Amino acid sequence: RAVHHRRGGTGPRAFRGRVPRAPRPRRSAPRPCGRRDRRTLRAASPRAAAAGAPASSVGAAAPAQGIARVVRAHGRPRRAPLATRGAGLMPEWPDLHVVRSRLEKALVGREIVLVRVGDPLVLRSTRPVETFLAHQRFVSVRHRGKFLIFDLDQGRIVVNPMLAGIFELADAEAKLTRSTALSLVLDDGNDLRYRDDKRMGKVHVVGLDDDLHDIHGFADLGPDAGDFSWSEGEFAQRARATRRELRNLLQDQSFLAGIGNAYADEILWEAMLHPKRRVATLNDEEMSRFYRSLKDVIARGAREVEEGLPPELGTKIRGHMQVRLRKGKPCPRCGTLIIKTRHGLDDMYLCPRCQPPPKGQIR
Ligand SMILES: [Zn+2]
Repeated sequence: RAVHHRRGGTGPRAFRGRVPRAPRPRRSAPRPCGRRDRRTLRAASPRAAAAGAPASSVGAAAPAQGIARVVRAHGRPRRAPLATRGAGLMPEWPDLHVVRSRLEKALVGREIVLVRVGDPLVLRSTRPVETFLAHQRFVSVRHRGKFLIFDLDQGRIVVNPMLAGIFELADAEAKLTRSTALSLVLDDGNDLRYRDDKRMGKVHVVGLDDDLHDIHGFADLGPDAGDFSWSEGEFAQRARATRRELRNLLQDQSFLAGIGNAYADEILWEAMLHPKRRVATLNDEEMSRFYRSLKDVIARGAREVEEGLPPELGTKIRGHMQVRLRKGKPCPRCGTLIIKTRHGLDDMYLCPRCQPPPKGQIR
């Protein structure tokens, strides 16, 4: 319980006198976020991304230039459906899976030489974060569901990016943006930055002896959506035991960890199942489709993100999605126009023909 109450850092003071070159983040000009992300996404070079080299020369504030727009191998142009910031941008299992391996390559063995706190509101720690983290070395980077865990030689940083948190690797000299919540400058001149436009994510800084299960949401995590070992039969049994609606079940982190709005929509479209169907109404063939679609869509998502994510990270890859954020576009399977409806607080996207609603519902 002790882990997530007191906040580390002390506001803008945290920057005073410790940052020789970079300006205070609060004072930098507002960033046209949606636009820039879109451009970054389009300009991303999959070849460069695949190389996976640490982006020591690519600053967070420097837009990528001169690289042709990415086009899918089979011809359909990659769309960058980022108009509604936040919606569909939550990092999910495939995103964190790829980000983890990139970060591990860039960070393991490196020492933190400077800690810059831009937004103390995201920090959760019982320790003075700047002095605690200084001169620690990265030992490994793991992820669990939607959490990223940085193991250090004397502690851990556990991040739940929530809706909009995102990691970047920048040159330490590059200008900090207004939404940079935490910057860890490394001994090789790279800078691990966490930014969060919505300020909803949480960065827990804990000691090696602290129990990660004390972190809110961590203890309840089910197996990871991208590598759970349940057979089809076991999956069906566990799903049926919940009696839930399919979309709610997919997003329940205690059932499987790491699926959010975007991949839930994609999985259900792939399985040709309406999001509000209840598990109990699925026949064996539908349950089998549900299971296989889940496995396939997450695995494919991880491949697409691996291919599309630029070395400096700092964006989320959604161009491969078939229904998510594609309202009014033809369903890739049947041509019917994709619709967007409300689902609690979330928006969901589906094909009204491929995914017929349960009895008694209009859509
Ligand atoms: Zn369809």
